Amino acid sequence: MGERFSVRPKIKSGESLTSFLLRVCIDNSVTIKELFNEIKTSYKQPDLRNAHQIDFNPLNTIDVKLLVSLTDLDVNCLNLCTFNGLISHFISCDETRRLNNSSTLIKDLFTVKKRNFCPGCLQENIYYKLIWQVKDILTCPSHNIPLTSLCPECGKEQPYLHMNLAEGTCCYCCSSLTKTQNFHINNESLMYSQWLSNQWDDLAALNPATQTKQIIIATKLLYVCGNLNKHFSIQRGDNISRDYQFKLLRIVANKSPDEYGIGLNILLRTLWRLDYSIKDFFSITIPLNFSNSLTAYLNKNSFIKCIVPWCRHRDSNEKLIRINTFRAKTHHSLHICLGCCIKFGVNKKRGQWEEYGDQISIGYQTILPLINSGVSKLGLSKITGLSRYKIYKLTSYFARFGLINNEYLSDYIPENQDVITTEDILLITNRNETIMRDAAKNRLKIGINNFYFFYYDPTVQENIYNQE
Ligand SMILES: [Zn+2]
Ligand SMILES: [Zn+2]
Ligand SMILES: [Zn+2]
Repeated sequence: MGERFSVRPKIKSGESLTSFLLRVCIDNSVTIKELFNEIKTSYKQPDLRNAHQIDFNPLNTIDVKLLVSLTDLDVNCLNLCTFNGLISHFISCDETRRLNNSSTLIKDLFTVKKRNFCPGCLQENIYYKLIWQVKDILTCPSHNIPLTSLCPECGKEQPYLHMNLAEGTCCYCCSSLTKTQNFHINNESLMYSQWLSNQWDDLAALNPATQTKQIIIATKLLYVCGNLNKHFSIQRGDNISRDYQFKLLRIVANKSPDEYGIGLNILLRTLWRLDYSIKDFFSITIPLNFSNSLTAYLNKNSFIKCIVPWCRHRDSNEKLIRINTFRAKTHHSLHICLGCCIKFGVNKKRGQWEEYGDQISIGYQTILPLINSGVSKLGLSKITGLSRYKIYKLTSYFARFGLINNEYLSDYIPENQDVITTEDILLITNRNETIMRDAAKNRLKIGINNFYFFYYDPTVQENIYNQE
């Protein structure tokens, strides 16, 4: 098999892996698709529209070992000719496998749909550098001219991967791409672009051992944004938006920041605004005083806390656990308080910590006063227009948590309350409420009207929402 690629080019300085692969193809007179078939892309049909993935997440896209043996590529090069090196500084190998273009870490960081190039560089040597795909790097550091993805003749955008690119010609009209083009770049973008190209090597060469854990980065950023004041205070965040500060605090507080982790793009822009180089930023030592005051702040003012009026654990996070059995479209960081079995999350639109559900908004504010004024279950349904399930759910909940006045309480407490144990319920626990309800009916003879009384057992809720 290796004989097919008997000509084995050497990777060039700063070259991207896809550019190297193009040259392998040209030198050996094979097409990209043929090469893709050889190195077993993870796509069933090699799809050139996803070719950028090779430069972003090679381990997930191609058989790297096979590639190395077929092309004599030094395996250590992989970190340099793809973004894998950079990315692996911030997340684990496992997380890398789940990474895609919309992952928080690399969101808006790279240009993936089109191929950028410097006409000056192509004039000297036809190959495509990896750094050209960094979205905010707008000019070539060697020629100081704008990078582009457009053909100087027909004006069309060049795709990420195409055989013509290996010859330095347009994929549509075959004109040479080496003609210098002029674009206007606004001053601020230009300044940021230059700063970023200067920082890029330092960023790629970071020591991943201790410095790049997201919690440490978030803590450092809070420290720097607080003008190196040794005491953390929420008011001192003039240098960053409230939203971003909130986000950083959540990262520090939560310890599992996968879905709202540090976005490298925002981190870099913030450092630029604050006039910190990558080296300076990552070599800062966080004073112990600062860490302590930050922890104290988070303990006292954690966003993650129960906010339920009737919960004994209100304003504390001690009974809060993370929900890991489902994700919500509208909220992130879902938690449930085992003191009151109410779910919470951060509203994605408003950035606000709030109830996920309507036990407070509808139940507590509307239904409970009606129950306590003597309205029957049937009456509740009629007055509110809510379904019977919904009414059963709310009334059973309020009965369980002792919110119904004594004179009406017995109407809402199941007769077999003492016969059925938590263990019985745990045996039929299912993430799917309907399945669980049916099992309760068939196996434990619990009717729908009483089901939710047992359902809202904190141990059962924990089992539903927080499984390994
Ligand atoms: Zn150049
Ligand atoms: Zn063209
Ligand atoms: Zn609670």
